Amino acid sequence: MEFIQNEQLRLLVQIQGKESRITEILDKQSKLPDIISSLKVSLDKAQSTLSEASQEFEGTTKERRRLEGLLQDAEEKARKLKGRIPEIKTNKEYQALLKEIAIVEQEKSDFEEKIIMLLDKSDSLKAVCTEKENIVKKEEQDFLSEKGRIDADFDQLTVKLKELESERAAIESEIEPKLLAEYNKLISIRKGLAVVSVRNDYCLGCHIRVPPQIFTEIKNNDKIISCLSCQRILYWKPK
Ligand SMILES: [Zn+2]
Repeated sequence: MEFIQNEQLRLLVQIQGKESRITEILDKQSKLPDIISSLKVSLDKAQSTLSEASQEFEGTTKERRRLEGLLQDAEEKARKLKGRIPEIKTNKEYQALLKEIAIVEQEKSDFEEKIIMLLDKSDSLKAVCTEKENIVKKEEQDFLSEKGRIDADFDQLTVKLKELESERAAIESEIEPKLLAEYNKLISIRKGLAVVSVRNDYCLGCHIRVPPQIFTEIKNNDKIISCLSCQRILYWKPK
């Protein structure tokens, strides 16, 4: 900063530097929660896929238990019907009973068939659930480690922020009150950019050309000069 003769101008350039870095850090920090949310989408998706598979598995198990209950009832019914055989007196009654028994036996075999089918289905659903559980575990690990990294970044940025804020305060205390007030006003109306350099003869704040006479004066860096169009404080930065 030796190229700036005017001490107040030099302080303004320095404070703007701190200001810009503070803005940059706040901006970075504000984006971190969104990054965490977008990472969580993948985990949420894996969890909901697992939950769907588990529900299907539970539904199959429930249906199988219901059929097992019905099978037990049918077995009981068949046993009772068979128990009546010795009491039968006529052939007609005997034929009717046999028919009834045959119907119940058919029911039993239908239930058994369905139960076996559901057992097979449960086995494959169980395998699907295990696979999905592993995916969820992996996604959880990835999410937590990535979140940990982002949280650590956030904390590191907070430390840097405090440092910059105290440096800004130190510079502030050396700037003349009137000039500081002007600077603060520009910071608030010019979106955080109050002090800018000129490139060629353009103001880097509003990109409007400064008159040749003023440009010559700016190059001396020995007094406070404001841009005629955006009022930002101008200085010259040699290459
Ligand atoms: Zn300007």
